[in-house]
Amino acid sequence: MTTSPVTDPVGISSSGRPRVVIVGSGFGGLFAAQALRHAPVDVTLVAKTGQHLFQPLLYQVATGILSEGEIAPPTREVLRRNRNTRVVLGEVTDIDLAARTVTSTILGRTTVHPYDELIVAAGAGQSYFGNDRFAEFAPGMKSIDDALELRGRIFGAFELAELATDPAEIDRLLTFVVVGAGPTGVEMAGQIAELAHRTLRRDFRTIDPTQARVVLLDAAPAVLPSFGEKLGDRARRQLNEIGVEVQLGAMVTDVDADGLEVKDADGQIRRLQAATKIWAAGVQASPLGRLLGEQSGAEVDRAGRVSVLPDLTLPGHPEVHVVGDMISLDRLPGVAQVAIQGGRYAAEAIERRTAGKAPQGPFRYRDKGSMATISRFSAVADIGKLKFEGFTAWVLWLVVHLMYIVGFKSRVTTVLHWLVSFLGRGRAERVATVQQVYGRLALEKLGPEFAVSKTGGPKEEAAPATDVTERKSA
Ligand SMILES: Cc1cc2nc3c(=O)[nH]c(=O)nc-3n(C[C@H](O)[C@H](O)[C@H](O)COP(=O)(O)OP(=O)(O)OC[C@H]3O[C@@H](n4cnc5c(N)ncnc54)[C@H](O)[C@@H]3O)c2cc1C
Repeated sequence: MTTSPVTDPVGISSSGRPRVVIVGSGFGGLFAAQALRHAPVDVTLVAKTGQHLFQPLLYQVATGILSEGEIAPPTREVLRRNRNTRVVLGEVTDIDLAARTVTSTILGRTTVHPYDELIVAAGAGQSYFGNDRFAEFAPGMKSIDDALELRGRIFGAFELAELATDPAEIDRLLTFVVVGAGPTGVEMAGQIAELAHRTLRRDFRTIDPTQARVVLLDAAPAVLPSFGEKLGDRARRQLNEIGVEVQLGAMVTDVDADGLEVKDADGQIRRLQAATKIWAAGVQASPLGRLLGEQSGAEVDRAGRVSVLPDLTLPGHPEVHVVGDMISLDRLPGVAQVAIQGGRYAAEAIERRTAGKAPQGPFRYRDKGSMATISRFSAVADIGKLKFEGFTAWVLWLVVHLMYIVGFKSRVTTVLHWLVSFLGRGRAERVATVQQVYGRLALEKLGPEFAVSKTGGPKEEAAPATDVTERKSA
């Protein structure tokens, strides 16, 4: 499909109001769009998926507790009452700071979006620390596709073990290794252990799922290092109690279909046979960060994060705001609250400029604390000077996550699914399809031109078109 190029005046939209382009529908992008709801601007939100993804609960999709729809409502639906906002599907491939345009592409249709103000909130992807080949055997946990692939691999491993006859092969199939002992790794390992020991306990005839081995590995010497020593130790003990083997000071040096090679702190290299490997270690900011750095002269760190000024803009470009996981500023962590508060701050800056008001002070992050679940009824929470653990922390975790899940429908069904999983033993979402397990690798084998076929077909070449969609409302 091709669209013909049309020239659109760069700067002021046809409604005469400033154009705001937002890249990304994650925490930063969505909360920025919501904050601009009543502003006298025309907003175009461009994202490469049609959903707002609540990443903190991805592990519950991967382990069959929640459905993908519950943690990823359509962005279009969430923003339907924002009459000044248009949602556009497309991967942003270029940002031209001099021309003030953003270029996005979807299935061969390339669109150029002119802007007066730009908010870039493209987040971060998985980092394999230069060993991208590990990705084939150890999927990360960044997208719905990742979570569904992992769900297929985890439930599939039990199925294959039921059929296997060689005891060594059964052990390999029933060994699950999670790499990275940060919150994502801890939550993932805890849930696989609960799945094996509680949910699947009576479902098989040949194998005993409670014999499954769940290993949580990290090169660092601590579990949840960002939570401090006390909560980290507590989390480690709780993990041991539910049957997770925690191996620290253990660096993964190779990954293949059958297992991993691990180098321990004493320099010894050993092998772990495991069919299912999950990569929950390391992030790499969106490549758009580097692109912005090259054009503005802002520094870009090794994780691809672009240095922003204290008001979250780029040097020499007060109209370009960058928020969330993509930024490097005062060692702010890559957490949802940094993105949410950054998105709202950028929206406020735009509203003030539009109204001719003086700019606000520098961005100040208000740390609302961090939490991680270990198993049902058990979590750790670090909120300012207060440290919680066990059931109290778990209830806090439950309430906070429910508050931030977007949409009434999702909240209701999430609570129902939590009741099924936490009070009962069941998991409502145990479907695993062949396409979920093999889709990613099959697309990679077909070649880069098929990378977008997930949404409909092979990539076609098309002439870029300029975005001139008429706005019905203003
Ligand atoms: C598994 C997991 C668990 C987590 N748990 C927690 C937690 O418990 N608590 C917490 O505070 N934080 C947690 N985080 C971190 C938190 O989710 C991130 O800090 C937050 O999502 C960052 O928001 P963002 O807007 O910067 O990026 P994201 O939320 O990642 O959004 C990025 C958006 O940009 C879009 N995008 C990316 N590239 C392009 C492109 N080229 N063109 C168009 N669109 C693009 C994406 O589709 C997406 O819509 C977790 C993260 C993960 C992965």
